[in-house]
Amino acid sequence: MAAGQKLLIVEDEKAISNLIATTLETQGYHYVKAQNGAQAMMVIVTHKPDIILLDLGLPDMDGIEIIKKVRTFSNVPIIVISARSEDQDKIDALDAGADDYLTKPFSTEELLARIRSMFRRINYVRNQNGEEVTTFENGALKIDFTGAEVFLNGKHIDLSPMEYRLLCVLAKNVGKVLTHQYLIDQVWESIDGSEVSSLRVFMAGLRKKIEPDREHPKYIQTRIGIGYKMNRVIEEEENKTHL
Ligand code: CA
Repeated sequence: MAAGQKLLIVEDEKAISNLIATTLETQGYHYVKAQNGAQAMMVIVTHKPDIILLDLGLPDMDGIEIIKKVRTFSNVPIIVISARSEDQDKIDALDAGADDYLTKPFSTEELLARIRSMFRRINYVRNQNGEEVTTFENGALKIDFTGAEVFLNGKHIDLSPMEYRLLCVLAKNVGKVLTHQYLIDQVWESIDGSEVSSLRVFMAGLRKKIEPDREHPKYIQTRIGIGYKMNRVIEEEENKTHL
């Protein structure tokens, strides 16, 4: 773990908060604790944590409200840790901008695995100065996250909101195979229509727009029966045989 990385634990139940803190300590993570929403918001602004572990049932406000507030000014990863286990609760949290969802009771091993995975993602989207990057480049494909715009060979590509969300999820996980269910969970706004067949339709639309050769897809690879993966495209360095 890079020095200075720290997590914020937002949890009103002392026993759980202490359990999480102890778990983090064993791995050498730094952390700050908050027991309610107001405290959490203050810590987020003043301490700028690298990852937020968020309980939803807080004494002064719902965790979903915290996610929405935070998302107005920060992309800090948020892992929800909640006793709410209904699909709709997860969908609400993810739609509000949470990055992951862990249901109580949870195993500390699983919590640590989710945190490790989140740090890998952060390290990917940050540049060497530790700043959040606002663009993603892969071969001739470029995504401008700030303007929600996509370019191929410098040319603007018009994507539907669903295609754009799909592309962003693939890009943020470049090199990793994502299952149908993961993609559906990440991009769908409601549980209706969360079918693999609909996902295929949107994926086909997206590919039509970004793949130069649909017969030999360069960016998005199908893993039959599993899902999809965005390949890291190595740009051909044609004119670089000499300096
Ligand atoms: Ca609680």
